[in-house]
Amino acid sequence: MEFRSPEDEAWYGVEVWSLCNDLVVNFNGFSHEYDEVYPLEDFKNSEQIQEFEERFRVCSVQMQDLECPIVSEGTKVCATCPSDTGEVKFYDAIMVGVERSKHGWDEDGSEVCGCEFRLYWKQGPCVGQVTSAKIGDICLKSEDSRVNPKVFSFLKEARRQIHGGASSSHQGAETEWQKTLRRVTSALRNYNLSSSVSENQG
Ligand SMILES: [Zn+2]
Repeated sequence: MEFRSPEDEAWYGVEVWSLCNDLVVNFNGFSHEYDEVYPLEDFKNSEQIQEFEERFRVCSVQMQDLECPIVSEGTKVCATCPSDTGEVKFYDAIMVGVERSKHGWDEDGSEVCGCEFRLYWKQGPCVGQVTSAKIGDICLKSEDSRVNPKVFSFLKEARRQIHGGASSSHQGAETEWQKTLRRVTSALRNYNLSSSVSENQG
């Protein structure tokens, strides 16, 4: 699954798990210190829940050279936009033009697409602009609209809390305890990670 982080509004491949009432988002290829924790009680209304729900979707997949003929003007994609800092971050865009050139072949006999794709950016630093991209910059969005079961139950619980309207000082105390537990769990995880690294090195 991929997730659009509120930190930079870019899309990342993620895994999620629930910890007490919270949803923990782990970014593929990043250590746990970059995990984002979303406490259930932070969601105050249905708009916030809806907004959060739209941040998750099935992973987009790197476009293959052979797939060149299936894209055209109007194809919605997720792609990396040109960055001054060299960062590779993914945002949504719409293909608004394709300048096709004859495909070549590499030494392994695989087809190589050298076409230029014009992308109109819906998000990210280039929002509202049209830039040029190569096939390697582009991922195709999944048609699959299923929601991850852990995200689904988190959202369901968040909606239940809002509509249930339950609130008491006892719950407040529980929340403090959950926060502590979260810190402990995270510290333990970091400890386990660092000890397994030193084992590998030794
Ligand atoms: Zn091509």
